Amino acid sequence: MKVNIAQLRRTEGASETYRFSESFPSLQLGNEDYFFQVPVDVQADVTNTGKSLLVKGKVFSIINVNCSRCLKEYPFHLDFEFEDEWQPAEFAEPDEEEGAFLFDKDEFCIDNRISEHILLHIPMKFMCSEDCKGLCPKCGADRNQGSCACTDGDIDPRLEILFQWNKGV
Ligand SMILES: [Zn+2]
Ligand SMILES: [Zn+2]
Repeated sequence: MKVNIAQLRRTEGASETYRFSESFPSLQLGNEDYFFQVPVDVQADVTNTGKSLLVKGKVFSIINVNCSRCLKEYPFHLDFEFEDEWQPAEFAEPDEEEGAFLFDKDEFCIDNRISEHILLHIPMKFMCSEDCKGLCPKCGADRNQGSCACTDGDIDPRLEILFQWNKGV
């Protein structure tokens, strides 16, 4: 998605809204690849403050993820706001505070920036629902589908010792 700020950057106090809906390639985070189910929707309100462009953005999309507890795949909704400051490269100080985004043309691509924001909003763990029961640690059955034959009192003899120890017996 390209933003054209030719007009905006010349008029202090002016603001403009940009809207995009664009297909994104999958995002990689650690060993995971996240695939988008729908295009990424972005709305960015950009204001020329005189020394920089202040961006207030909203991002919406849906990615496929696996529940950290039961491993089932489900759609995770990305829906967040972000704020950026874009500074013209020619005025930037070498020790400019981090997070400032530099531009040197009237038109530039913000896809990488949007990807960075999305990666920041991908949680460490996913839960298909608040009360996902997860998998049985013994037989691997999905406990959301019903209970398995294993009972809580049915402890592997090799773990029995640990269990006793934990209870302080
Ligand atoms: Zn789950
Ligand atoms: Zn089980």
